[in-house]
Amino acid sequence: MKYLTTIGLEVHAQLKTRSKMFCACPVEFGAEPNSHTCPICLGLPGALPVMNEEALRLTVLTGLMLDCDIADVSKFDRKNYFYPDMPKNYQISQYDMPLCTNGKVPLHDLAYPKDAQKNIAIPDKEVHLVRIHLEEDVAKSFHFETTTGIDFNRAGTPLMEIVTQPEVSSPEEAFAFLTALKQILIYGGVSDADMEKGQLRCDCNVSLRPETQGELGAKIEIKNMNSISGVRRALAYEVSRQIEALGRGEKLEQETRGWDDARGETFLMRTKESAHDYRYFPDPDLVPVKTEVLLSNVRARLPELPKHKRARFVQQYEITAYDAGVLANDLELAAYFEKAACASRRPKAIANWILNDLQSALSASGKTIKQCPILPEELNELVALIDSGKISSRQGKEVFAEMFASGKSPSAIVQERGIEQLTDTTAVEKICDEVIAANPKPAADFKGGNAASLNFLKGQVMKLSKGKANPQMVGEILERKLRA
Ligand SMILES: [Zn+2]
Repeated sequence: MKYLTTIGLEVHAQLKTRSKMFCACPVEFGAEPNSHTCPICLGLPGALPVMNEEALRLTVLTGLMLDCDIADVSKFDRKNYFYPDMPKNYQISQYDMPLCTNGKVPLHDLAYPKDAQKNIAIPDKEVHLVRIHLEEDVAKSFHFETTTGIDFNRAGTPLMEIVTQPEVSSPEEAFAFLTALKQILIYGGVSDADMEKGQLRCDCNVSLRPETQGELGAKIEIKNMNSISGVRRALAYEVSRQIEALGRGEKLEQETRGWDDARGETFLMRTKESAHDYRYFPDPDLVPVKTEVLLSNVRARLPELPKHKRARFVQQYEITAYDAGVLANDLELAAYFEKAACASRRPKAIANWILNDLQSALSASGKTIKQCPILPEELNELVALIDSGKISSRQGKEVFAEMFASGKSPSAIVQERGIEQLTDTTAVEKICDEVIAANPKPAADFKGGNAASLNFLKGQVMKLSKGKANPQMVGEILERKLRA
C-alpha cells in the first residue's frame, strides 16, 4: 500500500524590534532572568498595552515579501487560557482579522538538505500560506529537579505566526520551506531567525492516508523541535511510525506529540479530548489598526529577495546558478562577493576563490565572513595579479594564505617575497638564449626529436630566473627558438 503524506507548518518568528510588543521593556536574548519586565508584561492589574509600531511594520513587510494580501484593517484579540507562563491568563493575539492572508514561500534547490538536492520531487515548488498574524510571546519556563522557574524577559516580545496550507509533502520539503523562509526573514531584517535561540520555532501537522483515499488522515501535531534538521527528522520518524500503525490496521486519532531530539522519537503529549477552547474576543484595550499608514513606510524597506538576487548574479556576473545560490544563501557572503566582483573583469574567478579557498579558510579558523581578514578589493587584486601573469596560480594560493593570516594586501606580499614573475619578454628571451648556448647537447637532442629535453632546458631557465619567469612563457620561447 502506498501512502500520501500531508504536512502543514506553523512557524513562530521573533521580530527584531528594540522593545516588546506592548511595553517599553527591551528585547534582548540571554539577559539575566526577569531583568526586563514591567507591570504591562507581568500582567499586573490595571496596566494598559501600547502597540509597538515597528512590530506592525515588520509583519506587514513580511507580508509584502511573501506576496500576501495585507488587510486594510486588522485587530487584536485575547486568546484565553491558563498557564503559569502567562500571567494575564490570556495572550494578545489576532483571530479573525490578521494583518496578512494568503501569500507563498518559493522553494529552491539549495534550500533542500544536501543529500536530497539531487532528488527534488517538485522543482521550484511554492508553499502557499493561510495567514500571518502578530501576537505577544509568553514567558519561558525552566524545569529544575523539584521546582519550575519562570523568566518573564520573553513575555510580551513580538511574535509573528506564519501558517502554511497543508501542502508540504515530505520531511525534505518541510526542511526546504523553513530554510527558504528563514532566508527571506533575514533578508528583510525582520528576524534573526536563529532556531537555537528560539527566534524561530515550528510546529508541524502531519497526516497520512492511503493513496486511494481522498479524505485527509488524522491530523497529528508535533511540537518542540529546535532545529530545521530536527524538524526533518521528527517528520521522517512520524511518517514511518504512522505508516507502520496504519499497516497494522490501527486507526490513528488526532493528537499532539512532542519530539525528543536525543532519542530521535516523537511521544504522545495530549489527545483531542483535552483540546482548548480559547474563547477569543477583541481586546478592548487596543483599537483596530489601519495598515494604510504603515504601508508607505514598509514599501520603501522592501529588500531584493533571495530569488531575485540569485537570478541577478547569474545574469550580471555570469556565474553558475549553483554558485549564485550558495552566495545568495548568506547575505553577508553575497555582499562580499558583489564588492569584489563589481570591479573585477572575472567575477567567475572571484566566486571560485570565495566558495573554495575563502570559505574553507574561514571555517578552519572559526571566523565568519564579517571577520574576514581579506578585504573584497584585495581578493579582486589577487585575481588580477594572477590573470595578468604577474604571479602563477600556485603562487596565488601562497599569497592568499598569507593575506588571510596577516591581513596584508597581495601586492605588498608579492613585493616583500620578491615573487613577482618575470613577464618582460625580452628579459626571458635573453635567459633562454643563454641557456641554449650553455647546453648544446640537450638543445640538439630536442631538435633531433627528444621532446623531454625541453623540460631540462625549461628547468635551467627557471633556475637562472630564480623561479620568477612564467613557466608557460619560457616553454613557448624555448620551443620557438629551438624550432627556428
Ligand atoms: Zn514590560
